[in-house]
Amino acid sequence: MTESQLIDPFGRTVDYIRMSVTDRCDFRCVYCMAEEMTFLPKSELLTIEELEVVARRFMAMGTKKIRLTGGEPLVRRNIIQLIRNLGAEVKAGNLDELTITTNGSQLSKMADDLADAGVRRINVSIDTLDRDKFKLITRWGDLDKVLDGLHAAKQAGLQIKLNAVALKGVNDDELGDMVSWCGDMGYDMTIIEVMPMGDIGNENRIGQYMPVSVVRSRLAKRFTLIDSAHQTAGPARYVEVQDTGRKLGFITPMTHNFCESCNRVRITCTGQLYMCLGQEDNADLSHALRTGGEAGLDEAIIEAIGRKPKGHDFVISRRVDNVAVGRHMNVTGG
Ligand code: SAM
Ligand code: SF4
Repeated sequence: MTESQLIDPFGRTVDYIRMSVTDRCDFRCVYCMAEEMTFLPKSELLTIEELEVVARRFMAMGTKKIRLTGGEPLVRRNIIQLIRNLGAEVKAGNLDELTITTNGSQLSKMADDLADAGVRRINVSIDTLDRDKFKLITRWGDLDKVLDGLHAAKQAGLQIKLNAVALKGVNDDELGDMVSWCGDMGYDMTIIEVMPMGDIGNENRIGQYMPVSVVRSRLAKRFTLIDSAHQTAGPARYVEVQDTGRKLGFITPMTHNFCESCNRVRITCTGQLYMCLGQEDNADLSHALRTGGEAGLDEAIIEAIGRKPKGHDFVISRRVDNVAVGRHMNVTGG
């Protein structure tokens, strides 16, 4: 492997890419999408082969970790081809990790293939263990199917981390039970604050906002939380739940600035490279690749990393509109 060439103007090495492989999804989570969501024409998406070329050029410039996300990454047709090809690089020692963030709906049929391909860890998003609430939050999801998928993933030997978005008045009273359940099942967990991404229709996001600091102090009454030195390539701050022995992460994009250690960039399913989740500046890698080939792509990547901003400025306040960043989470990738 070459030494990393991707160092931003603030001296941060960029060695982690998150790629959204589709904007489509089989769920319609209330904080993520409107129910009547209009998806991009398929012709605008990078093909599976183009996604792989982009991933490989980043790897050639030092990328060590790739996370596939969406939309729902596992509903993209032929996604397993990309996962197998990148997974082979993990097996060959050229990539430290290939991980996937998924809603779990396809896991019961795909978990074995993922494990065979070289995926070791997955994040599965589940905000509640109550069937009715799950339906309310995801609109189209089926909790039992997701739980079957989790079981299949565990059987396949995948390490699992649950992602739960804290939603005031919806699941905040249940998060303690979920921490406990994750302990029983052997899963780590991350609790995420709602972020102002994309127009989601009639839902009132301010009503949903639940500071993770409040969640944490409530959990601290029930569990012994020990600050952990554990640091992943992601933005979560971790504690160890002494009672369960599992890790618990908190992602607080609104109330805590984690930008100083940011080592990652995002690529949308249309090939736009976003140097920061919270800023609009981007580079069109699709155009660069389609017009300039791999050399053009390399040039566009290096140029874009040279303008990675210092940080973001999300604000949820009653004085501003519900939407701070116009992009939907499913396009940029969570
Ligand atoms: N469909 C996959 C899933 O749900 O895991 C991957 C994509 S989803 C956009 C990635 C993560 O973003 C999920 O954990 C989801 O809960 C989270 N997410 C989506 N919209 C969000 C928002 N507005 N604020 C905070 N987290 C959000
Ligand atoms: Fe789909 Fe994930 Fe968004 Fe839910 S959070 S609608 S599962 S992309």
